[in-house]
Amino acid sequence: MSSSVHYPTASLKPRREESLLNGHLWIFSGALQQPPHWIEPGGLVDVKSATGDFVARGYYNPNTDIAIRILTRDIEESIDEEFMRRRIRSAVALRQVFDPDKTNTYRLVNAEGDGLPGLIVDRFAEILVVQIHTAGMERMHSLVIDALVEETGTRGILMRNDSQSRRREGLEVEGPEVAFGGVPTQVAVRENGVLFLVDPWQGQKTGFFLDQRDKREALRKYAGHADRILNCFSYTGGFSVYAALSNPNAHITSVDTSAPAIEAAREQFMLNGIEPNAHQFLIADVFDYLEQAQRDGELFDVVVLDPPAFAKTKDARSQALKAYRRLNTLGMEVLRPGGILLTCSCSGFIGMDDLLGAVSQAAQRLQRPVQLLETYTHGVDHPIHLAMPETSYLKAIFCRVG
Ligand code: SAH
Repeated sequence: MSSSVHYPTASLKPRREESLLNGHLWIFSGALQQPPHWIEPGGLVDVKSATGDFVARGYYNPNTDIAIRILTRDIEESIDEEFMRRRIRSAVALRQVFDPDKTNTYRLVNAEGDGLPGLIVDRFAEILVVQIHTAGMERMHSLVIDALVEETGTRGILMRNDSQSRRREGLEVEGPEVAFGGVPTQVAVRENGVLFLVDPWQGQKTGFFLDQRDKREALRKYAGHADRILNCFSYTGGFSVYAALSNPNAHITSVDTSAPAIEAAREQFMLNGIEPNAHQFLIADVFDYLEQAQRDGELFDVVVLDPPAFAKTKDARSQALKAYRRLNTLGMEVLRPGGILLTCSCSGFIGMDDLLGAVSQAAQRLQRPVQLLETYTHGVDHPIHLAMPETSYLKAIFCRVG
């Protein structure tokens, strides 16, 4: 490490360094007294307090509300190959909690949670899928790829830089592109011993929703005693396969608007030795489906609701709360008395209390008692920086509805 490197300076307004000293990794543009001059979006800067003391080092973007994302608070730490390798090595070390014979797919780098703002890396067996969300991380693209190759021994790295949020950063929204080695269109992975085929090229996000691993595992014990299970927003059938494996006698209905996802769900059943024709796979809008099911008097023993984010912005919050209320009401209406509801929200702007509120309002509307059984957030491979609760997004609640 060398302290000889100097970066352009960004000066803070008086007393604006407090949250940074508490470990927060963002500086909003309003906190800057003097933005750095002559620096391209994503360029490295040293953040100094109003009194001129070094506070942190990070990357700057003049085009975004979050003007600076912090990479280090150590003045001695320069941002180079070694820095990137240390961060990736630390991320890899955390994931040693997984027994590779059971689980060889997980989030390998969770952005701020792993000290690398703007970077997501998901591991699917020997393949890595990378998403870069910020101009600062884009500038470190080759450091990222080199460190991943060195530290993981991966066979192939695919860039999935297709997130619309890149536009805000002044970045292109791109198609999938191989950055290292070779990447097949289907990768077989194990999650808690359950097999899945993942399509890193065409699948949603990076191909598979790794953030539900622990909730899928938790579902097993409820599915074991259920005859009819409904998995709403099933995608490629993650919850459905776990349920079918834990109870060969259960009948499982999987509903999603995406035809390729539903087709893939059937394949996951076969891959795990389950006859898909004994179950139901529906390409449908969940709200329409639930309304119809309720009219038909259908009842399930377990209902899973794992919708996409309803609130993508803060302004969309009140609309989203209504949608969660409506969805949970519909979900409860097709749940037999004593049935289990697993309900989730992956909206960053909706908190656990909001989701609990939506469930309890649905229960009041239907005059049904609800017992709260378990609450979850992310798995261990999605670490959340303790000083940055706003980077946590997933909430999941298991309850029994009387
Ligand atoms: N539970 C899944 C992940 C769900 S992601 C898993 O464990 O892998 C959200 C899913 O909702 C996506 O597959 C998307 O295609 C689907 N979707 C979005 N809006 C929908 C709607 N109105 N009705 C049905 N499916 C919808």
